[in-house]
Parts: sequence; structure tokens; C-alpha cells
Amino acid sequence: MLTLLAIKSCRHEPSQNLKESPQLSLVIPCYNEGKVLPLLRERLVQSLAGLGLAWEVILVDDGSQDDTFAQLAAMHAADLRFKVLSFSRNFGHQTAVYAGLTHAHGDFVAVLDADLQDPPEFLAPCIARLNEGFDVVYAVRRQRKENLFKRVCYAVFYRLLKAIAEVEIPLDSGDFCVMRQPVVAVLRAMPERNVFVRGLRAWSGFRQTGLEYDRAARAAGETKYPFRKLLRLAFDGVFAFSPLPLRLATYVGFISLFISVLAAVFILVWKTVGFRLCGYEPSSVPGWTSLVCLVLFLNGIQFLILGVMGEFIGRIYNETKQRPRWIIRETRGLDLSNARPL
Ligand code: UDP
Ligand code: MG
Repeated sequence: MLTLLAIKSCRHEPSQNLKESPQLSLVIPCYNEGKVLPLLRERLVQSLAGLGLAWEVILVDDGSQDDTFAQLAAMHAADLRFKVLSFSRNFGHQTAVYAGLTHAHGDFVAVLDADLQDPPEFLAPCIARLNEGFDVVYAVRRQRKENLFKRVCYAVFYRLLKAIAEVEIPLDSGDFCVMRQPVVAVLRAMPERNVFVRGLRAWSGFRQTGLEYDRAARAAGETKYPFRKLLRLAFDGVFAFSPLPLRLATYVGFISLFISVLAAVFILVWKTVGFRLCGYEPSSVPGWTSLVCLVLFLNGIQFLILGVMGEFIGRIYNETKQRPRWIIRETRGLDLSNARPL
């Protein structure tokens, strides 16, 4: 309902060929990217001209506080192939990508970051690979030009996710990809609120392949992914695609129960037989330290398990609230009846 209200209240700008789908739709999430947009526009126009396809770029302004929206609106005014969706507030990178996908009706749909870390020139080899008989070509980072801490975090996360996820989520691949429209239609139909786009893309199946590229450094501005947001993204990935944390809680619970039973049996035997251990007999056991250690250990396990439950319950709660996934404030050149925001 909220979404419907949002849809009704937003401004529609006249635009040509709204219903006509281009051959290539690009989805680009932008959050406070004012500094990089002029560069992005230039690189896009140059590289897309070489493709020989009719294209559109769907720029999703994720509630930016800088002049991002003003610049995007100007881009649309100058060239109608640039279309804009502006959120009422910051809903997060993944939601922005997903919202863009609901409007992407091209035969090929690409997702890339606004900061030019995903070079638009790489779309040509991706599309050539798609034409060899694939439905999804995702870009695999050969090397990253980011600080060591971020590189290590990413490397650990992707390997952990690969080890525990129920679907094969390819290593070192982010959202940068080109997909065929039927795959995007599957993604659009997903009812979940906590979206982890690269996971859903892998989950959808079809014929997928990776293509290696060197990830550039951010062309301008600062990262919009502080460690807190990165951690949330990692959690969404793990909790949405692996039941292992929940199972882990059960395993840890069982193991600690087993250890306590063994300890109880041992103490009973010790008391009955009465041998000396580390200079003590059961009758002279001071036991305070070990008792406190044990209580703390078990408490720790209990909190860990509660935490894991909490993560899942929080996500279930989020899904059941059925709130709109995003609220649109303004658009340029996009027909909202053409999208499926819910
Ligand atoms: N982004 C977004 N919403 C956010 C954070 C980021 O739309 O809340 C966009 C951002 O504008 C960029 C992309 O997501 O196009 C990736 O973000 P960033 O480059 O800051 O992340 P990093 O590459 O540093 O991990
Ligand atoms: Mg970046």
C-alpha cells in the first residue's frame, strides 16, 4: 500500500519510448556519487557507443544527500537514455540494485557500480561470452586495488560463503555481471526483502560463467561501504544462503552437552575411586576456578546460540512485516507501472 502511495505521489517526467525495451539495460546504484558522475557519464557514453546496441542506463539514487539526484536529472534531460529512480532515503546498495532490476527490460541486463571500479568497457567481452550460449556472465576479480584489510575481509568472506552456502556462489564475484532477461525476470519475482543479489543470481541457475577482470580503484569520492555495512552484507549472504549457522548452534549445543555428561561421569568415578589428580583428591577439591571457567564457557555458548537464533528471527520478522522494499521519491524517464516493486 505504502509503495502504491509512493508510486502515485511521485512525479512522472515525459519520456520517449517508455514501453519500448532497449537491447541493453544497465543498472547503476548511486549513493552520494556526485564527484564521480561526470566521469561515469563520459566513460559510459564512450564504451556503450562501441557496442552497437540500443541501450538505456537506469541510475538508482539511493537517497543521496549530495547533488547526485540533480546531476542524474540533468543527465536525463540531456540524453533520454539515462533514466533515474530516486529513493526517499538510503535503502542500501543491494536494494538499489534490485529496484533497478525491476525496471530493466532490455534483452541483456548489466549491473555495475557507479565509481568505475567495474569498467564499462568490460561489458563488450561479457556480451560476447553471453552470445557463446550463456545466460549469465559474472565478472570475477583477478586483482583488487583496495586496502589490505578490505582485500583480506573479502577473500575470507567469499571462501567461507562458498564452504557453507547451499548454492554454489562463485568466488570473488560481486554484482558486476550481464544477464539475459529471463534470469532478471526470475530475480524480479523473488519475494524476499533481505536481498543478496549475487546469491540470488547464483541460486537462479541457468547457464552461468565467470570472466576475469582487474578491479580498478574508485575513480573519485570515498567508499560508501564502511565496515558496518560490509558486515551486514556478509551476514545477509551467510544467513540467506546457509542454514549452517543454525545447525552450528545445535552442534555446539550437543558438543557442550556431551562434554558436560563426560565431566559428570568423570567426577562420579573420581569420587567413588578416590585417586589423586594433580595433587588433589575429590574431598579436597577447591574447584572454584574450574567451576567459574565452566560456567563462563557454557554461558558463552548459550549467548552464541541465542545470537544465531536472533539473526534468523530478525530476518524472519523483517520478511513478515511485508513493508515495501523501497520508497520512490522521484523518477525521470521511467514508467512505474512497468515495474514490479512488490
Ligand atoms: N551504494 C548504494 N547505497 C549504499 C552504499 C553504496 O547505492 O548504501 C552504491 C555506491 O554508490 C556504488 C556501489 O553501491 O555505486 C558500491 O559502493 P562502494 O563503491 O562505495 O563500495 P566499495 O566498492 O568500496 O565496496
Ligand atoms: Mg566501489
